[in-house]
Formats: sequence, C-alpha cells, structure tokens
Amino acid sequence: MKVMVTGGTGYIGSWVVKLLLERGHEVFLSIRDLSHIQKYRHIEDIEKKHKGKLHFFKADLLQNGSFDDVANQVEAIIHMASPFTLRFKDPVKDLIEPAVKGTKNVLSAASRSKSVKRVVLTSSIAAVHGDNIDMKEQHLEEFSEAQFNTSSSQWHQPYSYSKVMAEKEAWKMYNEQGKWSLVVINPTLVMGPSLSETSNSESLALMHDILTGKYRFGVPKIYFGFVDVRDVAMAHVLALENKSVKGRHILVERVASIMDITKIVGKKFPNRFKLPKVEVPKFLLYTVGWAFGLTAKFIKRNVGYKIKISSKKSVQDLGLTYTPLETTICDMVEQMELNKK
Ligand code: NAP
Repeated sequence: MKVMVTGGTGYIGSWVVKLLLERGHEVFLSIRDLSHIQKYRHIEDIEKKHKGKLHFFKADLLQNGSFDDVANQVEAIIHMASPFTLRFKDPVKDLIEPAVKGTKNVLSAASRSKSVKRVVLTSSIAAVHGDNIDMKEQHLEEFSEAQFNTSSSQWHQPYSYSKVMAEKEAWKMYNEQGKWSLVVINPTLVMGPSLSETSNSESLALMHDILTGKYRFGVPKIYFGFVDVRDVAMAHVLALENKSVKGRHILVERVASIMDITKIVGKKFPNRFKLPKVEVPKFLLYTVGWAFGLTAKFIKRNVGYKIKISSKKSVQDLGLTYTPLETTICDMVEQMELNKK
C-alpha cells in the first residue's frame, strides 16, 4: 500500500515506519525540516534492510496545504504527529494548536485527495479520560472506548485536552465526507526501546527520570495504563491493513503505578540505579509536588486513585497480543544503558 505517514520520525512513529517497510508498504514520510538529518537518519538505515520503499517530503502541521500533494499519491494516511510534552511554555501554541490545526490540515488533505480511502489516527487514552478520579465521578467500572475526556482544559491537563480536541475534530471531519474510513488508536502510556535518538517524548523522559534518580526520595502514587511501543506500532499497521476494523481502540497491557515500574527495574538490575523505596504520602505531595511538576489540582484528582482500562476491543477487533510489561521495561532500560556507552 502507498501510505502517507506524519510523526514517523518520533518514538512511536519510527517503529510504525519500520513495520510498514518490513511488510513491503511504500511510505511517504513527512519531515518538518529536511536539514535536520539526525531526526530521520535511523529511518534511512531501516529502509536499507527491508523491502518497502521510502520517500521523504517537507510538511508542517501548521502549514496549510503542505500535505496535499502527497495525499494525492497515496491510498492511506497514518496521522501520528502531535507534540507529546509536559514541558511547554504556552499550552495553546505549544500543544493545542499543533494537535487540532494539524489534524484539520492532514485530514483536509485526505478529503481533497482522490485516492485516500483510509485514515489511521493516533489519539490517546488522554482522549478517553483526563484525571484518574473521572472513573469514580462517572460511576464507571472501567474506562472503555465509550468515554470521551470531559475533565481536561487548556488550564488543567492541556496535553490531554489537545488529544481529545484533536480526536473530536477527526470524527467531525470523518462524518462530513464519504470517501475515507477512520480508525483511531488510543494508546495508554507507551514504554519500550526507542529507535529515534532525538525524540522528546514524555515516555522516554519518564524512564530517564526514574533511572537518573529523580524519584530516589519517594515517588507519587500515580497509576497509568502501560503498553509496549512495538505493540502500538503493530496496532497501527493492523488498523491500516484490515478493512473491517472500525472505531476507537484503547491499547493497554496493564495498569501499574510508577512504583511498580521501578520495582521491575530494581528486580532485573539490582543496585544499579537510585530507585525509590517509598511512595510520597498525598498530603506531603501538596508541599513537594512542584518538584515533580505536579499541580495541586492534579494531585487532588489523580494521586492514589486506581483505574481500570479495557483492552477488550484491541484484542477482539485488531487481534493484538500484548508484550508483558516486564519485557517492555527491561528492554527499554537495557537499550537506554547501551546508548550511554
Ligand atoms: P514524539 O517522539 O515526540 O513524536 C512526535 C512526532 O510528532 C514527531 O515525529 C514530531 O516531529 C511530530 N511533530 C510534532 N509537532 C509537529 C509539527 N508542528 N509539525 C510536524 N510534525 C510535528 O512522541 P511520541 O511519544 O512518539 O508520540 C507520537 C504520537 O503518539 C502523538 O500523537 C502522541 O500524542 C501519541 N501518544 C503517545 C503516547 C506515549 O506514551 N508516548 C501515548 C498515547 C498517544 P519532529 O521529529 O520534527 O519533532
């Protein structure tokens, strides 16, 4: 298949492009700045080893029309590009605009194209729920594809807000046309080894913080869903190839706390890293939470609240099998250690 890919230089995107090339697809990869070779050199190396073909083209999420020419040459689009950072200055400019305007820009190219039949969009669990307390407040047994995040805003959890607004825009645009079908992938927190050496993804930042001792005096008791980056890539490719797949798909291997992750690290690599021994009590976090970048509202609505997240649809409809979290975490740490040498 001829596929246009956005965000293919990133942490998740590089694995998606690798899999597409392995399976013989022809990939048209958008690059913001073609002179920034270190962002995509690893993908050129991957292409040499696989049967698929690769083309680069210059496009930016915020430059209207920059995806149009290539959209006219492909049958499908995988739209992954969107900033995933918690270190931003202006939530509107740095997160919400690129996510929402970028989605409009890429999907408008799909609607104007004569050839695009399928769009796969990388959304997030952040478009399903904002705070962990949402589950209790909404009287839910577990989060599933039926929910949309209603608790995030430009001021509270703006990254999550950027994802829910972008996904809603995609569904709106899908409903306004009849040419292309839409499949949405909603990964939980993605972990596992990185092919990209330049990604600023928060996934890599979290593991870097754990390994470099940021939490050595204690860790906030926060639960996340986790999924392996290689499984996320496979989900995108299955969604692209299997015409009968429809709708949203949450990806989660299991829910775990940050402390659970550090325990996996400590078991496999004893005495190697300065890992936390305790979870910081919630009342204390209100005083020291700034050191972890946590606001009082975030602490109040997330710390200590366990969540359940359904993976049923991804298993039944996509046929996805999940890598155990232990393998994911150990492979990630091993690779980060290797990169230091
Ligand atoms: P990443 O490594 O930072 O990748 C982000 C990608 O988006 C990069 O290729 C980046 O291009 C591109 N991008 C950002 N702003 C852009 C702009 N203005 N114009 C063009 N391209 C732009 O992050 P990631 O973790 O792989 O995330 C990829 C996607 O997965 C995002 O949509 C994110 O919301 C979603 N997601 C991530 C997770 C997770 O835990 N990692 C979980 C759920 C969903 P450059 O290379 O030029 O910077």
